[in-house]
Amino acid sequence: MRTQVGIVGAGPAGLLLSHLLHLEGIRSVVLEARSREYVEQRVRAGVLEQGTVELLTDTGLGDRLHREGLVHHGVELRFEGEGHRIDLSALTGGRTITIYGQQEVVKDLIAARERDGGDIRFEVEDVAVDGLKTDRPTIAFTHDGEHGTLECDVIAGCDGFHGICRPSIPAGELTEYDRTYPFGWLGILARAAPSSDELIYVNHPRGFALSSLRSPEIVRLYLQCEPDEDVDRWSDERIWEELHTRLATTDGDYELTEGPIFEKGVAALRSFVVEPMQYGRLFLAGDAAHIVPATGAKGLNLAVADVRRLSEGLVQLFGSGRSDLLEDYSRACLRRVWRVQHFSWWMTSMLHRFGDDRYQHKLQISELEYVTSSTAAATTLAENYVGLPL
Ligand SMILES: Cc1cc2nc3c(=O)[nH]c(=O)nc-3n(C[C@H](O)[C@H](O)[C@H](O)COP(=O)(O)OP(=O)(O)OC[C@H]3O[C@@H](n4cnc5c(N)ncnc54)[C@H](O)[C@@H]3O)c2cc1C
Repeated sequence: MRTQVGIVGAGPAGLLLSHLLHLEGIRSVVLEARSREYVEQRVRAGVLEQGTVELLTDTGLGDRLHREGLVHHGVELRFEGEGHRIDLSALTGGRTITIYGQQEVVKDLIAARERDGGDIRFEVEDVAVDGLKTDRPTIAFTHDGEHGTLECDVIAGCDGFHGICRPSIPAGELTEYDRTYPFGWLGILARAAPSSDELIYVNHPRGFALSSLRSPEIVRLYLQCEPDEDVDRWSDERIWEELHTRLATTDGDYELTEGPIFEKGVAALRSFVVEPMQYGRLFLAGDAAHIVPATGAKGLNLAVADVRRLSEGLVQLFGSGRSDLLEDYSRACLRRVWRVQHFSWWMTSMLHRFGDDRYQHKLQISELEYVTSSTAAATTLAENYVGLPL
């Protein structure tokens, strides 16, 4: 088998890359370890930056997104029992975020690739990349019990944090930067009307909480927990009780609506970057190259920014034979990656409980008071949250 771009992974990065390349007449094959149903149901991110929405819209993926996505103009920071709204739009010249589940983006992308005759192989096994320093790298895999080899001009490693592409790069070629946090998030989806139109980020003495939503009927709520928390220790009653405690306001005006919980899970929080994001003809994109704690709502958006750059480099390579954009891919992506790393680390540090560190807590409150009272500080949060220009 032969294609121009072999893509490992059908998450948002791999699927969007395949779509963008198709629009430019470049052929690709996407190899995915999981089933189509699995990737379409996998619940993850839900906040799209304006630049992400614009890119999806401009490339023909905006229909359902604009029909079902919820446009938000602000977020709330809640601490010491009081809410403070950050007016994202007023602080950024009218920019917004859109609430639209990652699995919906994935469904739209798969439907578009299917409509356009795209080649996505689900449930492939034994994926291995080779010849990365040659101009004919290959991907070996097994599909439907048959062994195949895909010869490519370029391989895109879009296979997430636990994929095989990054570990295929020889030891010593990459530098890793890593930070783990002493907590995780317990996340739920519940069938209930949102108690607030906008997201609420809470710094509470018992730990961080986040009130988010997926639609006018479905809420997404998170609680800071132990990084290895046993989800079975959290009955629905216990979850609601803890959410009521952490989200409560001193004036008692806030009322959290409850509803049946239909999804529950624990995710560890982690910051990770690998440099460079390229080795020979293998280019890493999205979670394969970097991870951010979800507090900044950036993981999916960063994956989109990477593949946009990668597609531009590939269009240049296949169009004119020039490779200067591809050679600059890693450097250009990493500038944004580190800005997003800092923002996500900063939001995480400001909002979570760090054990019994009372000094840290005082610093957090001081910072939250500053961010919610100074236009300059609030603007810093707002422009990073809605996303810096792509
Ligand atoms: C549990 C969880 C919750 C999250 N919640 C949020 C959130 O609330 N907000 C936020 O902004 N971000 C969140 N994120 C981060 C966000 O979802 C990711 O940044 C985003 O999915 C990155 O997209 P990607 O395409 O790079 O990687 P992925 O979505 O991870 O896609 C990689 C794909 O590669 C496939 N794959 C892996 N190995 C192989 C292999 N060997 N062969 C073939 N295919 C392979 C995987 O099955 C997967 O489909 C969350 C992440 C996780 C894990």
